[in-house]
Amino acid sequence: MSFLKNSCCHESGSSIYQRMKHIADIFPLLETPRKIVITTHYKPDADAIGSSLGLYHYLIQYGHQVQVIAPSEVPDFIQWMPGADTVLNYEARTDEAVKALDACDYIFCLDFNHPSRVRTMEARLTAATQPKIIIDHHLEPLSNFFAYGESNPDKSSTCEMIYDFIVLHKGEQKINQEIMQCLYAGCMTDTGSFRFPATTASVHEMIAFFKHRGLEHSRIHEAIYDSYSANRLRLLGHVLHTLDLNEEEHYAIMSLSLGDAYKYEVKSGDTEGFVNMALSIKSIAVAVFLTERQNREVRISFRSKGNIDVSEFARKYFNGGGHFNAAGGVSHDGLEATINKIKTLISTKKLTQFIK
Ligand code: 5GP
Ligand code: MN
Repeated sequence: MSFLKNSCCHESGSSIYQRMKHIADIFPLLETPRKIVITTHYKPDADAIGSSLGLYHYLIQYGHQVQVIAPSEVPDFIQWMPGADTVLNYEARTDEAVKALDACDYIFCLDFNHPSRVRTMEARLTAATQPKIIIDHHLEPLSNFFAYGESNPDKSSTCEMIYDFIVLHKGEQKINQEIMQCLYAGCMTDTGSFRFPATTASVHEMIAFFKHRGLEHSRIHEAIYDSYSANRLRLLGHVLHTLDLNEEEHYAIMSLSLGDAYKYEVKSGDTEGFVNMALSIKSIAVAVFLTERQNREVRISFRSKGNIDVSEFARKYFNGGGHFNAAGGVSHDGLEATINKIKTLISTKKLTQFIK
């Protein structure tokens, strides 16, 4: 069988909300200096922190008091971003984060579309009565959770959407080095260095604008891709050896057990991008990477080529979601049982229903 039988594309038009107000409706609210919290998803990646800090560096120029709160730590590979040292880690500094949440007038929610994505911060965020503004590009948003915003799964990255927000707000002239570095980094990583289908002309137009304003893009590639620890490379070697290949069924699975995570001293962000390695094999259409956590919890990353909707697969079987070709989910069955479950789902042809 082939997962790539149908060559048609999926329809992924912009989501339309009845209850959520347009993003431009918040502009009048931003005219006077306010206390603003910007938050993002648990285990934030470069798009999550890049969009949050990009917006931070924009809003502070209007006199707003802005606090970025990440539900968990900012990984090492994005610590170089200007302003990363101002981000509050909710898990580590809960009291300060709660104070900032209590005191703020608005909460921007970036790069996630459902309160469950902030995990340990979910109860606090749900209890907050201030207007929440979403800017995000994932599928299936919980739109009535947000008062204002923009949710567009056709967009390459939340970072690109922050640029659109600034342009709509007629603030292009305020785009400085800090903003460009943050937004470029998140857009670069979410598009697989400008190769995924969501890399539209508008992405390249944004980057052309940044280049005209003096962005040194190669320094950002270096900061992200050439700044790993030696341990991370050893870890990659180990993970590649776990490769479980089924070329007939066009899938590949790799995993990291809790014991090996300790052995290789894995830090947040160290496994970023590993799943794509399995997808680089010609015959492989679906790649899966599993990471074992405490208490039999397993986080799962799915990637696909072409017209296979792994987001729906993750949502249906692993309480997850994400994008059409890149999604994540969770299992509580332990590593081995989860791998077996995935294999069974694929070999009983359950995946074929996700070919669009
Ligand atoms: P990653 O595999 O890089 O962790 O995630 C791939 C994509 O799926 C990201 O856009 C991420 O936001 C999304 N994602 C990952 N885990 C989950 C999850 O548990 N639930 C949902 N809804 N999305 C997820
Ligand atoms: Mn993103």
